[in-house]
Amino acid sequence: MDCIFCKIIKGEIPSKKAYEDSYCYAFHDINPQAPTHILVVPKEHICCTDMINAENSVYVAKIFEAIPKIAAEAGLKNGYRVITNCGDDACQTVKHLHFHIMGGRKLPENMG
Ligand code: AMP
Ligand code: ZN
Repeated sequence: MDCIFCKIIKGEIPSKKAYEDSYCYAFHDINPQAPTHILVVPKEHICCTDMINAENSVYVAKIFEAIPKIAAEAGLKNGYRVITNCGDDACQTVKHLHFHIMGGRKLPENMG
């Protein structure tokens, strides 16, 4: 399967690692939209939120357990935003579930 985030997880494409455990891998976005912009991805290929189910939702739970640690490690003491895009209307460009962690400045209130 030709998935860029699967290749990043396997180390076949370089990335700037922020965190890793047995369920997820986090790395800095190549095109940051905020002073800190980290992506967290499950180590199992799940294309988007539409494909989350009872068998794989442990990955999502583990990601959300990791997010506060990743944010603290990144120094996001004053808050941060977590976003996931699903499908074309949300402009999902990489079809491997990922959560954007953004912070480091006051973010705009309007998200859409
Ligand atoms: P989305 O639009 O939600 O699918 O977000 C995909 C994100 O992946 C974008 O913010 C891209 O900048 C980011 N991205 C794409 N390729 C890479 C890469 N090789 N390393 C790091 N981030 C990437
Ligand atoms: Zn993948």
